[in-house]
This record gives sequence, C-alpha cells and structure tokens, in this order.
Amino acid sequence: MLKYEIDCDNLEKPVIAEEKVTIIEQKEYNVEEIVEKLKNYFVNNHIDKEIHDKTVMLKVSLVFAVGDYNRVIMINTNYNLIAATAKTLEDLGAKRIYIADGATVGPASYAYSVANLKRWLNQVELKKTKYLFLDEVPYAKVKFKNSPLDEMVGKECYPFKDLTLTYPACLISNKSLTDKNGNRIEDEKLRKKFGYIDYFISMPKLKANIFANITLSVKNNMGLIPRADRLRYHSRILHDMIACLYTIRPPDLIITDAIVSGMGQGPMEADPCRSECIICGKVGTAVDTVCSYLMDHDPLKIRHLKLLKNWGYGSLDLSQIEVINKVVLEQKRDKILPFEFPDRHIEKIPNLKVYIGEDACDSGCRGMLKAILDAYLKNDKAELLDNHTFILGNVDIPKEELEEIDKRSCIVYGDCAEKYKEYGAFYHGCPPDYLVAMALMMFQGHMGINPWITYIKPLHYVWSWLRHIGALVFGFRLWRKV
Ligand code: SF4
Repeated sequence: MLKYEIDCDNLEKPVIAEEKVTIIEQKEYNVEEIVEKLKNYFVNNHIDKEIHDKTVMLKVSLVFAVGDYNRVIMINTNYNLIAATAKTLEDLGAKRIYIADGATVGPASYAYSVANLKRWLNQVELKKTKYLFLDEVPYAKVKFKNSPLDEMVGKECYPFKDLTLTYPACLISNKSLTDKNGNRIEDEKLRKKFGYIDYFISMPKLKANIFANITLSVKNNMGLIPRADRLRYHSRILHDMIACLYTIRPPDLIITDAIVSGMGQGPMEADPCRSECIICGKVGTAVDTVCSYLMDHDPLKIRHLKLLKNWGYGSLDLSQIEVINKVVLEQKRDKILPFEFPDRHIEKIPNLKVYIGEDACDSGCRGMLKAILDAYLKNDKAELLDNHTFILGNVDIPKEELEEIDKRSCIVYGDCAEKYKEYGAFYHGCPPDYLVAMALMMFQGHMGINPWITYIKPLHYVWSWLRHIGALVFGFRLWRKV
C-alpha cells in the first residue's frame, strides 16, 4: 500500500481562507429552490470559478441506511440537498461530481441502494455525477509522526505504536507518497493511476452525536476512513484522531445540512429539529463554530475543534468570523433552543443493574452501549432490557454483590472490565465492535431483536456484500481511478 508520512513537529502553518460563513435560509427540502440559492452563493463567492472543469467530491453522510425517508431526515445528509448540490455543480461547469461515503452497517453501496438515492437524484437531470464508494477506492497509509497521540502509546486505551490512518489515495495523490520500499512516486504517475479530487466538498448533517457530542464538518471526515480504523480509535482518543484526520486534507467547501437537524440521542436515535437553514463556508472550524452557536454549544468544549484551533486551523471565535445573514441565524437559534444533547447515563435506565467505572469512555464503551440500549428504549422495547446487568469501565464491585449477579443476563462490556468476564458474557475490545455486540446481545443477552435490525433489507444486504467482495477480489471496482 502507498504510504504518506506527516511529521506533526514540522508541519507547515496551514493556510486558512477568510473565516466567512453564510447562512442560507431554507425551510423545506425543495430541490429547485435549493439549486437557485446555492447557485447564487457559489457565484457571489466566486466558487463557480473554483469548481469549473474540476473533479469534485461531495462527502455526504448516509450513516443510517434505511429505506424510510422520514426516519432518517434528521440523521443522513438529505437526498434532495445532495441532488440539488450535484445539479448546481453540473450547471456551473464542474467536470465530474462524485457522491462519496464509506461503509456503515454494510458496504457503502448498501446504504446507497437501500436509501434508493438514485430515485432522489433522478429528480434533476444529472449527466456528470457518479457514486464513489469509499470502501472500494485504493487507499494510502497515512502515518503521523510526533502526533499528540504519541504520549498515549502503550497505555491501555491506545495499544498501538503510532497513529496510522487508511485514507483514500485520490484525495492526496498530489502529495509526496511513497511505495512500500519508501521510494517516492512521481505526482504525475500517482494522478494517472489513482486520479485526483480537485475540489472536496463536505456535506455533514448538523446533529448531536453520542460519541463526539456533535457531528459537523470536521467529524464528517470519519466517513473517509474504513470502519476498522474508525473502531480502532473509538475510545478516549477519538477526538484526537478526528483532529489529525482533518489535517490530512481539509475540505475546500462545507455545505452543512441544517434544514432538519438532529438533536438528542444522535446519530441513530436523533429527534428532528427544524433549524431551516444551510450553513456554508470554506473553513471547517469556522462553519462548525457557527453551527455550534446555533445549537448553543461552546466549540472550545469540543476537543477535536479545540485541538485544531491550537494547531492554527481557525479561531473558533464567533466575533472573528464574518457571518453573512446573521439575523437568520439568530432567528433560527431563538426558535430551536434548547437544543438537546445526548444523555449517556446508562445507570439511570430503570430496572437495570449497572456497574460503570468513572473512566468509561463517552466515545467508546459508554457511548456505544448507550446507543445500543437507546435502540430498545426509543422504540418501545424497554421491557426487553429489564433485570439485565452491565459492567463496563474500571470498576470495583463488592464481592457480595458479585455473587448475586445472574450470569445469564449479565454483559461485561469492553476490555477495561475484563476482570469480571466470568460473571457474564464478555465482549472483548476497546471498544467492542458495536455491530457484533448488538448481534450477541440479542441472543447471549436474551434481549430479543434489536429494533435497528428490522431496518435491514436482507436481499439488498446480501447483494451489496456480493458485489463488494467481487469489486475487491476480482478488481471490477468502478473507481479504480476517479
Ligand atoms: S475498553 Fe471501553 S472504557 Fe475501556 S478504554 Fe476502551 S473504550 Fe474506553
């Protein structure tokens, strides 16, 4: 695999475009209206010239792959907004547009197919737009030297030698990449082989997130890397990884879907919040700062944003950001507040016995377990959880209480709690793979069918896996080169 090394001690100071964020008021997902407004925005900000005759990637978020449009209107990047953005780009002269996302519950292609994205895109005439399944593109291994994570090497939450991320080669084929023997590959050769994304547009859905507190443009980059990488860093180092990931290639433009946002137990059990706007800008941290203001959240309390500020990627200071249409922002803010953020208190769920160490990670075991339990709690299946015991984090349980635990309904979740593994079903991992955990809980935990499983369309699922395996093994992936 190709390699790319980033020495964090010798980083060039990032060049940050002016911190300007535009609020576009938009009440409904009306494609024609959005196209008109986006065109105005692009022309007024000279973005039409930047994308002209360029290969553009739209990094969307299809995190919850279901066929029910309204179930995910507050979770996924809206399909009408994606169609409208692609149409805008085509009309303004982009050479090629790729709609890109990575794997979630199945291969990336599963989400596209089950959401029936094609149907939504067909509302407009698109001739230069294609899908880009990020789990099928050639990758490069990006290694961070002297990263902020180095101090954690060897600690229990970070059992790796260094921070490495698997990253789509087409986004960095203009950089100094080396082959496995360390020989530098010429730029021209790289571009010829892997293609190059000239212009990268991030399209996050504004929403609360049980693991990282919020999902905005910086967090949206998580979908660029494979699921295994995401899981590997899904513990107390998640924010550090997200910040490092952003530095590999920050987006050129952000179009945040905040027409219907997601609040509460996001991502999967978010509630809709009609914030009725699209929030655009060229600096991810600035757009995320304005989005945070809309939600009444201090951006300095979001670790990945704070790290990026410290590294020179933006001020996170609303007073230094030029906000166009600030009146609209204030109106929407007044309308939606209080914006609800995730509740991770597993210990407050009635009829459960919970032993939880204070250090159990919000981004890891605590967040993941609560998300799985929310699937039952928010879908009228709370009674299926009754009388279960959960153990997670570094916790000390008195001997007499241990003896009373019913091992058949006890789940010991994550490596931190391994010392109690003989007291129930032990889920290994830091954190355990949530898909595997979900499946095991239904049987080992006798919790019955997880309501999320009912959304899976078996035929689409099997077919997506078959074509995905075919694409990887037999090399008939469509986007060997973008
Ligand atoms: S096992 Fe879980 S609680 Fe422990 S460090 Fe890993 S993610 Fe955090």
